[in-house]
This record gives sequence, C-alpha cells and structure tokens, in this order.
Amino acid sequence: MAAAKLLAIFGTRPEAIKLLPVVTALRAHPGIETRLCATAQHRALLDQVLAMGGIRPDIDLDLMRPGQPLGTLAARLALELDKVLEREQPDRVMVQGDTATAMAAALCAYHRRIPVSHVEAGLRSGNLHQPWPEEGNRRIISIVADQHFAPTPKAAETLLGEGVDPSAVHITGNTVVDALHAMQARLAVDPAMAQGLDALAARFSDRRIILVTAHRRENLDAMGRIADALRALAARRDSALVLPAHPNPRAGAVLKARLAGLSNVALVEPLDYPHFVRLLALSHLVLTDSGGIQEEAPALGKPVLIMRETTERPEGVEAGTARLVGTNPHSIVAETARLLDDPHAHAAMAQAHSPFGDGHAAPRIAALVARAMSAALV
Ligand code: UDP
Repeated sequence: MAAAKLLAIFGTRPEAIKLLPVVTALRAHPGIETRLCATAQHRALLDQVLAMGGIRPDIDLDLMRPGQPLGTLAARLALELDKVLEREQPDRVMVQGDTATAMAAALCAYHRRIPVSHVEAGLRSGNLHQPWPEEGNRRIISIVADQHFAPTPKAAETLLGEGVDPSAVHITGNTVVDALHAMQARLAVDPAMAQGLDALAARFSDRRIILVTAHRRENLDAMGRIADALRALAARRDSALVLPAHPNPRAGAVLKARLAGLSNVALVEPLDYPHFVRLLALSHLVLTDSGGIQEEAPALGKPVLIMRETTERPEGVEAGTARLVGTNPHSIVAETARLLDDPHAHAAMAQAHSPFGDGHAAPRIAALVARAMSAALV
C-alpha cells in the first residue's frame, strides 16, 4: 500500500523550531510520507533552524520580500501554495501556530478539501489587534482545521467553547518544550555548538544577565518606551542586558539607536537555536514580547516579564512563572528591579510549575496524525 502523504507547511523560525520535533516523530511512522514546504517568510532564520535539524525542505518558495504589506504577502502565499497543493496532492496538510503562512496554507487546503492538522491550536488573547495579525490568523485556522493539537487544557477549553468538535481536540503539550529539551541534550554532549557565546558569558560573568527580546508589530509604537526602560535598567551595575536582534528592522532600529554603546548592554545578531538556548540558560530573567520565549523560559525555570498588555498564554501568568508588565517604562523597571533585588520574589517565579508541556508533545501528535491518516486510507 502506498504511504499516505502529509505536507507540513511553514515559513518562520518559530514554526520551524516547533515543527521539527513533530517531523522527526512522524518519520518513525512508516505509513506516512512527510514532505516539507517552506515559504521562507523569515529566510535567514528559517535556514538556521533547518540546518540544525539536518533537514531540507522538499519545496522552497522563498517568498520573503522586504517591507511587503500583509495583504500582498497573504495573496502571494495563497497563489503559490495553491500551486504546491495542486502538484503535491497531499492527503493532509500540517500547519503550526498563527503566521500568515499557516493561515494561507490552511485556507488553501480547505479550498481543496484537504484535511488540516493544526499544531499549537486554541491560543487566544481575545483581542483581534493583540497580537496582530496573529490572533486573526489562528482563529481562521481553527475554523478550517479538522485536527486541533492544543498545548494546554485551557487552549482545548477555548476551542470547545468555540464549538469545535470535541473528538477533534487533543491536549498534547507544546512541541517547543520537546525542541528545548532536545537542544539541551545536544548541548550537553557538544557544548561547542554554542561556543559563540563564550566571550559574552566571560564579559558578563560578574553580572546577572537579563535576556531581552522585543519585536511584535503591535509594540512598534512602544519601542521608545521599552528603550527608556532598558536604559534605566542598564544603569545598574549588578546586571547586564543581552538583546538578540529580530529580523524586523523597524523593531531593532529604535533599540539600537537608544542602547548602542552602553557598557553593560550587548546588542547581538539573531542567534541560532543552540546559542539562544545557551543564552536562556545563562539568564537570570527574561523580558520579552515573544510568544515562544514565554513558553521556553518557564521550562528552564527563568522568570518572564511580558512586555505586552495581554497574552494568549495566560497559563504562565496563572502558574506564577510569568507576569504581564505592559510597555510602561515605570512598570518594566519596577518589576525587573523587584526580581533582581528580592531573591524570594525571583525564587517564587523560578520554581513555579512550567505549564506548557512535558517535552513529549511531538510523539503524541505524530501518533494522532498517523491514526487519522491510516483511518482515511481504509
Ligand atoms: N529564538 C532564536 N534565536 C533568537 C531569538 C529567538 O532561536 O535570537 C527562538 C526562540 O527560542 C523561540 C523562537 O525563536 O523558540 C521565538 O521566535 P520569535 O520571538 O521570533 O517569535 P514568536 O514566538 O513571538 O512568534
């Protein structure tokens, strides 16, 4: 019997990080042929992740153009992905998360009546403009998918509340925890994979490292305020700020202009995953507006201060591993200072339970996909 064909479609660094463990787990199911299609919404960062997994996309659309409007991107994605579906004729499509790529791929599959598996389903901020456009993207995917892999019970409840068929919703954990554990294991055997951080670790060996990332579209107007907060924190002599850049040049420009040259601030290029995981492990706390980092930091016992007004990952806040501090400089500085100055406050967050999964999400998802695909063949 011919293998059933699954086409996994992804475009950005976080999608690749979170899908790699699933692709690896799917390869253990001989009845499924897994094909990969990259749209390369984030070209360089995506390539880093794929190289790390020793994986090459079977189809590479290379659709990234500097500064392309979201509508243009969505239209180009739909046009090209529809051609891919026509050529590939997959039995099922898999998407992850909430990017334009995931949304366009799910929609194109739906138009061709191809079933869609959605990894990391059911996240909601409840506000279509925060994060924008991701909140809209993930809601669209939930409407057309027929397999919803919810990372947490709360995400599953959200889907059921929206009327999704309960038999299509599965609580699996988030695959980013699988990716993180796998990378830690590799680093333990081969620390040279992240030796590019040796100089930074030595430079800040007498300080507590605060890992900072800020790139969300809806935060672009707030970058000046975030930069003010970071400048105030940079005046402290007991800590150092490390900021890996994001490819969105608008996000980076303000921070660079305001923070360059400060002695205990390191502005570094985007890190590949091994270096990022090492930096996270070295950090005392994390200031971020990223989604994935909100999930990874608690898994390593790192307190997270979320520089956003809302989060679609409230599990971290409820578990006590994360706090929403918004983008007001006073609250960013006050909450960070509290964690630096009060060891009990830091320990309470560091020791709280990590709610995003046990590191075995990918094999669970692969088994559920295999079951659905073999049932469809009979
Ligand atoms: N990441 C990375 N290098 C970096 C910064 C982040 O590999 O310099 C990883 C991080 O570990 C996480 C993912 O990229 O898994 C998060 O991506 P990003 O913050 O771009 O997107 P979001 O999660 O907000 O969609």
